[in-house]
Amino acid sequence: MEALVARGHEVRVLDDLSTGRRENLASVLASGRVELIVAQVQDQERLRAAIEGCRTIYHLAASVGVGAVTQHPLECLKNNADGFQSLFHAIEAVGSQGGRSASGGPAAGGSGAFDRVVVFSSSEVYGKSTAPALREDDDLHLGPTHVPRWSYAAAKAFGEFLALTTHREQGLPVTIIRCFNTVGPRQLPTYGMVLPRFVAQARRGEPLTVYGDGAQTRCFSFVEDVVNGVLDLAAHPGADGQVFNIGSDEETSVLSLAERVIALTGSSSDIRFIPYSDVYGGDVADIQRRVPDLSRIRGLIGYAPRTRLDGILRATLETQIAADLPVGR
Ligand code: UDP
Repeated sequence: MEALVARGHEVRVLDDLSTGRRENLASVLASGRVELIVAQVQDQERLRAAIEGCRTIYHLAASVGVGAVTQHPLECLKNNADGFQSLFHAIEAVGSQGGRSASGGPAAGGSGAFDRVVVFSSSEVYGKSTAPALREDDDLHLGPTHVPRWSYAAAKAFGEFLALTTHREQGLPVTIIRCFNTVGPRQLPTYGMVLPRFVAQARRGEPLTVYGDGAQTRCFSFVEDVVNGVLDLAAHPGADGQVFNIGSDEETSVLSLAERVIALTGSSSDIRFIPYSDVYGGDVADIQRRVPDLSRIRGLIGYAPRTRLDGILRATLETQIAADLPVGR
């Protein structure tokens, strides 16, 4: 929101504040350029009112976090799948009422009413693939349907299909973003995300809970880098109808992340290895390696994340201290 306002846009936000906080928007609301509508994305009437007159839509409304997905799978699945359906339904309705087509007539499927619909997906859709670097055109390797974790990826993949099919059949300009482990200020440690959790645990002098043996790897990217990349893609004609990985390709193991957090905070915490079965019950499902191939986004907009892991760790620590964020478990 801050980045959109800084680029001179006026923004309407629809958020049910289920995991967000109104205070996070305080500075942009004070600018007078942001309107907040507190509603669920499934609320068609409010959603249509929210997108009416907007040129670009960023669809981020979703239940996120492996913790949330494994604890409340049905709620998350419904929120995410229904959220996508609701969005595309509203786009079609608003577009057919007032959208402009190339010929000046009403636009099919809302294709003329919007310059771009940016759909947030997730690196989770790659599933268990351990390819050295995951490419947008790779096959997806999801686990079985009785393991709740994969329902998140399935719902995100459904959203991608919905967006790309609407693009192909009705000309709606869409861009799909697959985010890889994005972290930064205001991210709560409550929904399972490892970095804010480790920082919160270290601040309290509690053991850092490394799941499994900690050899699994991730690449963490700073939210500011990701936001700038997304806004550049939204404005780029070459991103229409395309899927993009976004994130960092600086790979680190979870164990080494824990060690770096302890060193940075000077904490007396030690590391506790928690067996996967204690975390996920019988349905053990973790992703052993996750590294994005960033050549597509680099090629189109020259994307180059500026903040490296040390900077991300420092920023997470500083903002937790400043906001005195609670420690989630
Ligand atoms: N993880 C961990 N301890 C925690 C939380 C997460 O070791 O307290 C691990 C988790 O098993 C995964 C990695 O950290 O391998 C990243 O987890 P996160 O939920 O942040 O993101 P994911 O990449 O799984 O979506």
